[in-house]
Amino acid sequence: MAFRRRSFLDGHHQFVTEMSELNELYQEVILDHNKNPRNFREIENADKHADGNNPLCGDKIKVYAMVDGDVVTDVAFTGSGCAISKASASIMTQTLKGKTVEEAESIFNEFHKMVTGELDVETDDHNLGKLRIFAGVLEFPARVKCASLSWHTINAALHGEEEISTE
Ligand code: ZN
Repeated sequence: MAFRRRSFLDGHHQFVTEMSELNELYQEVILDHNKNPRNFREIENADKHADGNNPLCGDKIKVYAMVDGDVVTDVAFTGSGCAISKASASIMTQTLKGKTVEEAESIFNEFHKMVTGELDVETDDHNLGKLRIFAGVLEFPARVKCASLSWHTINAALHGEEEISTE
C-alpha cells in the first residue's frame, strides 16, 4: 500500500517536472527568437505590407510579404515590442515563407483559435507545428494580443489592408 502510494506521488511529481521543463523549453525558444529575430528586415517594394499596433502593451510592427501567384515567397518584419510579440512575428515569418495564401489563412485561423481557447493543441488536429508554444498565452489574456499581433497584421496585409490595431 505504502509503495503504491509513493509510486503514484513519484509519477505525479515526474509529470509536473516534465511540464515545467516543457515550459522552460518553450521559454527558451521565445527568448531565442526575441534576441535573434528571424527575417527581421524591411522588404523594399514589398507586394504586401501592413502596420500592426497593440497599444495595450506598446507592440508596434510592420510586416512585409512578397507574393508570387498565390505563393508567399518572402515574409519579413520590423518594429519593436515585447518578447512574445517579437518571437511570434519571427516564427510567423519562418512559418509562412513558401506557403500559399490559402495555407497562410488556415494557419492564421488555427493560431487564432489556439490562443482564444477554441482549439486544443493536445487533442485537436492542427498544422501549427512549433507555433504551439504560444498555446500557453491563453492563461494570460493580455498576452493573447501580443502573440497574435503579427498574425492579424500579416492577414490584413495579404487582404490588402495596411493597418490594424488590436484595440
Ligand atoms: Zn506585447
